[in-house]
Amino acid sequence: MKYDLLIVGGGPAGLTAAIHARARNKSALVISNDPLASPLSKAPAMANYPGLPGVTGRELVEGLMAQARDLGVEFKQGRVLSVMPMGESVMVSVGSDVVEGGAAILALGVARAAPLRGENEFLGRGVSYCATCDGMFYRNKSVVCAGDAPNFEEEVEFLRSIGCQVTVKRLAGLSILGESAVTGVRDAKGEETPCDGVFLLRASIAPAQLAPGLETEGGYIKVDGRMATSLPGVYAAGDCTGQPLQLAKAVGQGQMAAHFAIEGMG
Ligand SMILES: Cc1cc2nc3c(=O)[nH]c(=O)nc-3n(C[C@H](O)[C@H](O)[C@H](O)COP(=O)(O)OP(=O)(O)OC[C@H]3O[C@@H](n4cnc5c(N)ncnc54)[C@H](O)[C@@H]3O)c2cc1C
Repeated sequence: MKYDLLIVGGGPAGLTAAIHARARNKSALVISNDPLASPLSKAPAMANYPGLPGVTGRELVEGLMAQARDLGVEFKQGRVLSVMPMGESVMVSVGSDVVEGGAAILALGVARAAPLRGENEFLGRGVSYCATCDGMFYRNKSVVCAGDAPNFEEEVEFLRSIGCQVTVKRLAGLSILGESAVTGVRDAKGEETPCDGVFLLRASIAPAQLAPGLETEGGYIKVDGRMATSLPGVYAAGDCTGQPLQLAKAVGQGQMAAHFAIEGMG
């Protein structure tokens, strides 16, 4: 099935975009890590959200999700690994599945992690973000896994089940070593572990890694006045577009992104 809109990220920006899409009678799929596990969901009473003084993060996210569901928004839980415009469609990969939309809205929040030393250099040459996608390349080989993804244990278990020798490391202070391809990692204590591959299984992925060719500035996605990014059919909204990192701006941009994405589809 091809959706009218694919929305990556189930925070206030993404859920508002989805609600607006359904209000315009367009099909919408929100693909996200569990929205109720986001940092916002743990926020205590918020004083500055218009019309709802004292609302908690959890109340807000639950309310947006219920409203979206009632309007017919569909949800898919998972970590999005890539976003690729292809002619009249945008393809989004989630784990080992691929979904198709007429346009996509990136509502990723802020990517909290800076790339590790060696990560960009060895991406595709030993560094991977998805065990169930790339694991077979490392069958019966040594790999290192590090990350905070909700499905981290499952991904590690998958690698073990196909015969990988897995070492788990913490992300903090990890460096990736190699020459033409990965040969090992060095952890924060200086201990080196030889390996053939490194799986970085983070809950969020930096926008430029998610969508090759996407223009960013200071790590934030560049958008124009219609919330369009540098990639055709790809829009962005909320914290991932930059300051101010605030709720009211996120929901406003979510509405605008859906409006202009639908207009752009003709
Ligand atoms: C503790 C706390 C208190 C706050 N208090 C206030 C306040 O009082 N007032 C205020 O205005 N703002 C406040 N904020 C800021 C506010 O929460 C953010 O501005 C707002 O949540 C941004 O919404 P968003 O939809 O852009 O991103 P987010 O709410 O961050 O949602 C993004 C979602 O996308 C998911 N995601 C990201 N990458 C991927 C991927 N590759 N695959 C799948 N899913 C992905 C994330 O897991 C997350 O669920 C607070 C934030 C925190 C953490």
